[in-house]
Amino acid sequence: MNILAPTGARRGGTLRDARINMSHGSGGRAMRALIEDVFVAAFDNPLLGALEDQAQIPMAELTRLGDRLAFTTDTYVVDPLFFPGGDIGTLAVAGTVNDLAMSGARPLFLSCSMVLEEGLEVDLLRRVVASMKRIADAVGVAIVTGDTKVVERGAADKLFVNTAGIGVVPHGVTIAASQARPGDVVIVNGVLGDHGTAILIARNQLALEADVSSDCQPLDGLVAAMLAASPAIHCLRDATRGGIATVLNEFAHSSNVGIRIREDALPLREEVKGACEILGLDPLYLANEGKLVAVVAAADADRVLAAMRAHPAGAVAVAIGEVTERPAGMVVLHTVFGGERIVDMLTGEQLPRIC
Ligand code: MG
Repeated sequence: MNILAPTGARRGGTLRDARINMSHGSGGRAMRALIEDVFVAAFDNPLLGALEDQAQIPMAELTRLGDRLAFTTDTYVVDPLFFPGGDIGTLAVAGTVNDLAMSGARPLFLSCSMVLEEGLEVDLLRRVVASMKRIADAVGVAIVTGDTKVVERGAADKLFVNTAGIGVVPHGVTIAASQARPGDVVIVNGVLGDHGTAILIARNQLALEADVSSDCQPLDGLVAAMLAASPAIHCLRDATRGGIATVLNEFAHSSNVGIRIREDALPLREEVKGACEILGLDPLYLANEGKLVAVVAAADADRVLAAMRAHPAGAVAVAIGEVTERPAGMVVLHTVFGGERIVDMLTGEQLPRIC
């Protein structure tokens, strides 16, 4: 059985309502129509189409690909639901794919669970589901199980999405935040802070007409290219909420090493720099949805960078710093003015509902 093959099966239920109402969460005929017409028809694959309470995943193929399952879950509550460069659906698939990919895993299966607010336009829901399907197809993952709940008007804000994901980690690949070693090189795959800035602009919280789109994209292909170039990729993490500052601090803590980065090496768009200056935000903490931080053995850094730059998701990949023995557990920024400052963990919430 090809678990990604569309079945084209005709479904019984057709959803004629323009808006979600409480009966769509009732477990009855209306819910069946919602599930079949909106979700099963769009995600179309035999595991989902079986309409069981669980997807039954054949093991044989999985054991051929690797020796460990990677399993992750994430909930998406972004406001607004649609923004330049993506929407809650692209985010929900790319985000969970990326959490799998950061282990080196090949992403394979996703769940899709939604909380719908009474009154939500069905057309809007269909657009989100179509976005999910588009990114899932691009990655080669199947959305094989799901759930919907409907809550009264005001009990949720339009639409919340949870996606869990399963992938397989290839034999011999071990990537962990605890593996940074003095001398390693710190790399990012592109410009920083686009997602956070795009959301700010979409919320009209910025007295700034800047053309910035979210960087929301799946990174599994980029990670595969990096692993093909070098087995010496020690740490990988996608720099979402809390930005690269958070990821670097996690690496420094877990590995008990220092990390030194250079301000003049940070790839930033002028628009993002401008937004940060106006709002007093630090781009190191701005959210990304298609950016990763890698820690790589120095001897392999050039090879990994070349492989990244040959991939569309890493075209402007660049080394931004290195791992040092001291100060253990800390991240230090060398400023453009020749000074140094500690880059601490984020305190408080910089931007609510960013993803
Ligand atoms: Mg992550």
